[in-house]
Parts: sequence; C-alpha cells; structure tokens
Amino acid sequence: MPEVVIRSRRKVVMGWILKATLAGLVSLGVAYWTLPKWVHTFAGTSGWTTLEGRQLSPEARAFLDPLLEDLRGHELLDVHMHLAGRGIGSDCWVNPRMLSRRYPAAWVRFQSYLSAGHLRAGDPDDRFAEGGVSLAQALPIRGQFHLLAFDYACDADGQPLPKLSAFHVPDAYAFDSAAKAGSNFRPVASVHPTRPDALQRLRDAAAAGGRLIKWLPSAQNIDPASPACDRFYAEMMRLGLILLVHCGREEAMETGDWGHLANPLRLRRPLDMGLRIVVAHCATTGMGEDLDHPDQPDQPNFKLWLRLMDETKYEKQLYGDISTLTQVNHYEHGVIELLGRQDLHSRLLNGSDWPLPGINILYQLSPLAKAGLIDPADIDALKELYGFNPLLFDLALKRTLRHPRTTARFLDSVFLTRPEWGL
Ligand SMILES: [Zn+2]
Repeated sequence: MPEVVIRSRRKVVMGWILKATLAGLVSLGVAYWTLPKWVHTFAGTSGWTTLEGRQLSPEARAFLDPLLEDLRGHELLDVHMHLAGRGIGSDCWVNPRMLSRRYPAAWVRFQSYLSAGHLRAGDPDDRFAEGGVSLAQALPIRGQFHLLAFDYACDADGQPLPKLSAFHVPDAYAFDSAAKAGSNFRPVASVHPTRPDALQRLRDAAAAGGRLIKWLPSAQNIDPASPACDRFYAEMMRLGLILLVHCGREEAMETGDWGHLANPLRLRRPLDMGLRIVVAHCATTGMGEDLDHPDQPDQPNFKLWLRLMDETKYEKQLYGDISTLTQVNHYEHGVIELLGRQDLHSRLLNGSDWPLPGINILYQLSPLAKAGLIDPADIDALKELYGFNPLLFDLALKRTLRHPRTTARFLDSVFLTRPEWGL
C-alpha cells in the first residue's frame, strides 16, 4: 500500500478516536453536572408539592379508609422525624464531604435526603422542615410529631469533632422549627453527654416542651454503658425525659470507628438506673457482641434488643420504634417476628424516620408481597399513596403489614400517642 494511503487512513482513524474521546468527555461532563437530577429521579419522590387540590382515586380510598378507621378520633404518634440543613438561613451544618462529589457515596446519600425533602440548591434550610411538616399536617388524622436535632460527635471532654461528624442540627433549630410548625410538633434535643453544659441543655430541652432526647451512639461517639453518663441519666429522669437511641448498624450516614457503641446491651446501665428508653428501628440491623456471654458468637442486634425486651424488670422502661422496618434493607430482619409478638405491641411506637420515606429506592413493594407481608393486590394503591404523600404511604404500609402465616397486624396502639408517657 502506498505510503500516502496508509497515512490518510491513519488520519481518519485518529480523527475517529479523537471524536469518540471528545464525545465521551462531553457525556461525562453532562452526567456530572446533571447528577443531582439523577439522584432526584432515582432516590427522591415527586408530586407531593402539589398536594393541594389533589384527590386519591376511589381504589386508593377504598384501600386506605379501612386502615385508618380505627385510628380516627385518636392522635397519631411519630417519634422520629429528622431535620437537616446546610447552613443556608440556619445554624445547621453538614460535613463538607457530604456536599462534595469527590466523596460520591456521602454525596449521593446527602443529595437523596435533600431530594426527598424537595430541597434544591440554594433553598433556605427551613424549606426542608416545612416539607416534612406540611406532609404531616396533610395526614387525614391529627398527630403528635417529634422533630429531631442532631449533636456533633464529641470527645471525652465534650469538644465537638466536626471532622468525624456527618451533620449537626442545633437544639435551638429544633425548638424553633417545632414552635413554628404548631402545637402538634415537639422538639427533640440531641445532647452529647460529655458536653460541659449537657445538664443545662437537658433542662432547656424540657423547658422547650421536649419529651425525647436523641442519640446515635455509633455516629456521635457516645458509650451508653459509660459511668460518665450517670449524671446525665439522673438529670433526664428528674426531668421525665426519654432517650430515643439508635442501636444496630447505621446505614444512613458514615460513622467513625464507633460501631460497637450501637450494641443494645450497652443500654443495661441506664435501664438499671431506671431510665426510659426507646430503641430506634427496634435495632433491626447488624450484629453485636453478646456482652452478657462474651464466649458466645455475635448476635443480631435485634435479638439482643429482644432479650432486653423480654426481661420483666425493663417492662415499663424499654420500647422500640418501628421506623424503617418496611424498607428494603430492613424488612427481613425482625418484622415478621414483631408482628407475631403482640405481647410486645404496647411497647412499640410509630416513627417515620422522615426524610427516609421520601427516598423511593428504599421501598420495594414486590419483595414485601413475595414475603407474604402485604397483599399483591394492594401494590397499585400503595404506589398511588406514595406519590400523594410519602408519610401517608409509610403509615398505610405499616397498617396493612400482616404476619405471613397468622395474618396478625400491628395493634392500633402502636400508632397512637401515649399520654401516660407524655408522648
Ligand atoms: Zn433516624
């Protein structure tokens, strides 16, 4: 082949390679800049901002009405609604890692929270709280909703460790958000027990109408079994406050090397002191060391929590919230057992873990139907409810859950306020 032909062919091939590279780079660039949109599509909801004036179809109504019938005339309870923000018009804070695409896992996670809350770039943080509040207000049954602050991880001297914290929602922000939202919203302070002013913070929380104090030990570096917490527990009891504590593996945020602190058995110390404790998600994730029998293999955290629930001495002190139990990453760990344990239902409390119900990828109805937990015929109605109001969907899904063999459901009391506990 003449040299000239070879050269011109080479030129053509090089041209194609260059074009393909350019096209690839442009596609990558477009994908990068439109990432928030993709996250919104796959991990957020749509539709609920147009709640007003929207009607459910007769089929969805026919599914929903019987589920709510026995709750009418009572007050719903939601002990677990998160607040969050990036410091736009508020003192909330989020670890810059969660806002940077250089840390894709953290970034996608935080974007999906914002998306679930319909919070767009530049929106003031208050809009996130307003979104959850408006969905709660739009529920067909009046309720009491608890809005959660979130403290920094702190060291043993109570100094905040921002680099090891995922986000921070100040107590004052929860107080303000609840006050703005109305009398059926209560603030939940989050106080690290080593903070020098921890006891004063507890008093401030009680004065602001709070009933619960939120901890996430594995993300906040809190050891519930430490004697250093004793004064904190004593002050909580004096004020009649209840600890809402996450046990089990944490999946909603990146944590430091503190996973062992999420072991339900570490709660024996405050329980033995007499503190009332609500364990979030009934500890339905991860494995924990069997601290009662260190020679035994690790146990599911759910089983360790159940062990405590079954001890009569904790009967009037230990509870669990049922938030997230229907999510795709939770439903296999304990829901069936809990449905079958009606003797424990008076100690289960409803929680939504808002904004998680707004992240559609976490809810897969077909596996629930396959597991016999819901009727496949109800899937369309549930999907419609989801687009209408994710909090209503969350409630309806938990109301319709049934034990695959006995068809037992969660008792009505699980979903209602507990005035005797001030909840
Ligand atoms: Zn939560």
